[in-house]
This record gives sequence, structure tokens and C-alpha cells, in this order.
Amino acid sequence: MGLPAPPSLGTAMLPAGTYDGEVVLVTGGGTGLGRAMATEFARLGASVAIASRNPEHRASGVAAVEAAGGRGFGVEVDVREPEEISRAFDEVEAALGPVTVLVNNAAGNFPVLAEKMSPNAWRSVTQIVLDGTFFMSSEFARRAIAAHRGGVILNIGATYAWTGGPSTAHSAAAKAGVDNLTKSLAVEWAPHGIRVNTLAPGLFPHEDLPDALQSARKGTDRDATVPAGRVGQLHELGWAATYMCSPFASYMSGHTLVLDGANWLRRSLAMPTFVPVADQLAGLKE
Ligand code: NAP
Repeated sequence: MGLPAPPSLGTAMLPAGTYDGEVVLVTGGGTGLGRAMATEFARLGASVAIASRNPEHRASGVAAVEAAGGRGFGVEVDVREPEEISRAFDEVEAALGPVTVLVNNAAGNFPVLAEKMSPNAWRSVTQIVLDGTFFMSSEFARRAIAAHRGGVILNIGATYAWTGGPSTAHSAAAKAGVDNLTKSLAVEWAPHGIRVNTLAPGLFPHEDLPDALQSARKGTDRDATVPAGRVGQLHELGWAATYMCSPFASYMSGHTLVLDGANWLRRSLAMPTFVPVADQLAGLKE
């Protein structure tokens, strides 16, 4: 039977207008999970800035925000570049007002054996995920602290922060860093009225996933790989994000919420035969 399906897309979870007057910046908000979360913030009244590198992605995010009834604004940024970040915050502030909620969702990931991972591959993923999260967060906090206005930061994590990620060592290590950073920043910035949390999604397939990650799951019954008996629906993640950043979660800080249908906790009574990671990756190419 598995876990029940959620209420349908568009069902109200929080009171209408929960985000009236708020400005939410979502990095990587033009695709996949980021766009789904941006949509739910917009549905609740937020103005939403979609921050990323690719103009087509940004346009797609802005269109989704506007379709949900919010005000959208696309801003170019590479989260690895502190100077670009400062300029992007200025642009958003001029267009929508000061950012009050930051969602650090941008990421890069691709499967590769650790011994074959180039320094460039390692740097590019860890810099987007860990450095980018820190640079965006510190820019946000500097502005919020100076203006005495508080705010909320939501980092998007992953459960291989705790298990390790064979074939994605760069991303897993960076997500572990993000989980740890969440705790440090929550304590440092609580006196300034800034909450910092992480939301760790399980399996949430979508059409924007890069080919390398799509093929890792090709040919499998994805629902059957999760104890819940189903993968996550994107708007479920949007609901979790909008709750965690809302005043209804005012006492939640330094927390990591897992939304994965119990997937990361499972173990088999008798573990299946171990297949070396190199063989698993070779199988994808056949
Ligand atoms: P996705 O569609 O590949 O989105 C990644 C986004 O990050 C893109 O919109 C991309 O936009 C942006 N981005 C990448 N590098 C950037 C940079 N240097 N500067 C600014 N933006 C950058 O991935 P997704 O599946 O939606 O994942 C979203 C988040 O959920 C990630 O943090 C991921 O680790 C996490 N997650 C996803 C799943 C899942 O099942 N999908 C599971 C666990 C965790 P541009 O190309 O326009 O820059």
C-alpha cells in the first residue's frame, strides 16, 4: 500500500497571504525543485527572485512564479562569485525590495568514480554547493544585520550528507558541509533574528535533471525503490519549504528536515550482493 498520496498541487497548506510583503530569493529557481519551491512561495503572496546563470532557466522560473500569482524577477548570478552575488542582491533589492528569505538550492552533480574525478570536477561541485551556500548566506546576513530586519535561510541538502555518496563524492561531501554550516550559522545569527535550516529531499524526479542523473535511474520502477512506495511530488517539497520559512516555524533553527519517504534509513535484513561502484557506472553506459 505504501504512504498515501499528498493533496493535489494548488491545495492551500498555509493561510493565504502568509508571504505578503516578503521577498524570497531562490538560487537555481528556474528548474526542478527550485522552480517548484519558488511557485509555492509565490502562491502565498511572495515576490520571488530567480537567481541563476542561464537566462532560459530564469525565464522559466519567473513564468512559473507569475502563473502562481506572484511577482517574479530573474537575476543573473554565479553563486561561486562573491562580487556577482553582491551585485545580484542590489538588483533584487532595487526591483522587489530587500530579500527576507533566501533559499540556497543551486547545485551541480554528476556521477564519476573518485579516482577519475578531476580537480576541476571536484572544485566545480563543491564550490557551487558549499562555497555558494556560504557566500549567498553571508551576503544575506550582512544586509539583514545592518538593517535590523532578521530573515530566514533555507539550505537544500541531501541525505548522502550522512551516508556518503559513492559515485558522487564531491556532492556528498559538499552537502555534509552545508548540513554542518547550517548549525554554525543558526547559532551565530539567532541573536540577529535570522533562522537557518536545511531541507533534505529524497527522490524527487523531474524533467530538468541532467542526463547523467536521469540515466542512473533509467529502467527502474522509481516508486518501488522507496519504502513509501512512491517518489516525492514536487509540490510536497514546496509545502515543506514554505512552512520552514514561515512564521509558523519561528522557533525552528539549526534543524535539518528530511522529506524522503523513509528512504535513507532503510537496510535489508539480508543485504543484496554488493556491486562495485565502477561496475554500476559501467552498467549505465551499456
Ligand atoms: P537541477 O534542476 O539541476 O537544478 C540546479 C539549479 O542550480 C539549476 O537551476 C542551475 O541553474 C542552478 N545552478 C547550478 N550552478 C549554479 C551556479 N554556479 N550559480 C547559480 N546557479 C547555479 O537540480 P534539482 O534536482 O532541481 O535539485 C535542486 C536541489 O535539490 C539541489 O540542491 C540538489 O542537490 C537537491 N536535491 C535534489 C534531489 C532530486 O531528487 N532532484 C534529491 C536530493 C537533493 P543555471 O543552470 O541557470 O545556473
